Amino acid sequence: MRDPMIRNQEDDSFVSYAEELAAKVRGCAEADEHHFAGEAVALLLDASYNLLTIPKELGGRGANLYQMLLCQERIAEAHASAALVMGWHVGIALGLRLANAWSPARYAQFAKDAVHARAMINACGTEPETGSPSRGGRPTTTAVKVAGGFKITGRKTWATGSPVLTHILVSAYMPDRARVGEFLVRKDSPGVAIEETWDSMSMAGTGSHTLRLTDVFVPDEDLTDEAEPGKKMKRSADGSGWLLHIPATYLGVGNEARAYALEFARTYQPNSLSHPIGQLPHVREKLGQIEIERMSARTLLYQVAERYDRAEPADRLAMRGDLAAAKYVATHAALRMVDLSMRVVGGNSILHSTPLARCYRDVRAGLHNPPMDDSTLSMLAGLALESS
Ligand SMILES: Cc1cc2nc3c(=O)[nH]c(=O)nc-3n(C[C@H](O)[C@H](O)[C@H](O)COP(=O)(O)OP(=O)(O)OC[C@H]3O[C@@H](n4cnc5c(N)ncnc54)[C@H](O)[C@@H]3O)c2cc1C
Repeated sequence: MRDPMIRNQEDDSFVSYAEELAAKVRGCAEADEHHFAGEAVALLLDASYNLLTIPKELGGRGANLYQMLLCQERIAEAHASAALVMGWHVGIALGLRLANAWSPARYAQFAKDAVHARAMINACGTEPETGSPSRGGRPTTTAVKVAGGFKITGRKTWATGSPVLTHILVSAYMPDRARVGEFLVRKDSPGVAIEETWDSMSMAGTGSHTLRLTDVFVPDEDLTDEAEPGKKMKRSADGSGWLLHIPATYLGVGNEARAYALEFARTYQPNSLSHPIGQLPHVREKLGQIEIERMSARTLLYQVAERYDRAEPADRLAMRGDLAAAKYVATHAALRMVDLSMRVVGGNSILHSTPLARCYRDVRAGLHNPPMDDSTLSMLAGLALESS
């Protein structure tokens, strides 16, 4: 059955595009597992997936949030690490546009770099000293004013996609202004280095290494935004709907586990039975629970995305509770989908010869991408308490 989330011809062609790409990258998943998913990312770049959310008039594919999620879910089902690498880029490219965070000229130049030079962007905010940037800690990375620009020095960890990034949004404290700046840093600038520190049980192929900046000169015009320490930048002023690339990616992991469990239940027939295990009541109950998890998570995720796409820019921030709830529900559903799939498969599920061990490890990472559960629950509680 075709996905009921496909609303029209345009969605359908995005889905067909993503399914074609998913078929190409699927084979790379196991080979890439312990090092950067370079092969899968290269295949996606060859197919211009980095242009997914760039507007059509600037040479991109013009996907809105909803369509980006349809694509991310499919790429992630085939290769979760490659999907997360691309997800940050296509998400930020969408978010910058929707929030009008950059001048039209700067965005047009970035789009041109994406079209002609495979530009890839990510935001590197996390530092060992601050933990998650979403909690508002002041960066220890500093930007010191010099003639014509700034010199940035510091260290950012968890820099997903670092091997292929060309543009990096770096947060740094500006001591002379007592404010935090967000700078657009070219990875090929002198003083930028990637230290290959990424060694994770989850999303192992994302190349989320350490970005080391040593006296990196950034011209004045590449200070893209600034704010008081602890306050959000302009590109977050619309609630950051683009962050839904994260739950879509982890739902993709849940889908991969589900597909494996379904096929196993259809075909595995031990000689104690006269039929495959898919006919056993306890197996059917687990398969049914997986469907409930998946349907409820997808219904909420896509409903919120559709409303976000339709909302006036000024009304989007008011959806921050819905966005956070969609992320919470989808990442938890994905965790349960993987767990239930493993229970369906039984002991074989822990063998490296099945994809389930990788799904089990990958899906866990969703808890540690923003917004984190405690922030979501506390925000929702606050919104509920404030409502009449
Ligand atoms: C696969 C993956 C890819 C990532 N890619 C990127 C990326 O590209 N760029 C990037 O910048 N980051 C990235 N991150 C990092 C992510 O955004 C977080 O910074 C990181 O996971 C650490 O978050 P944390 O909340 O566990 O850490 P911490 O903030 O160190 O928190 C550790 C523990 O302390 C608690 N805690 C800490 N401070 C507070 C507080 N103020 N209030 C309440 N509780 C607190 C947390 O709840 C948690 O239990 C990535 C993470 C993952 C898992």
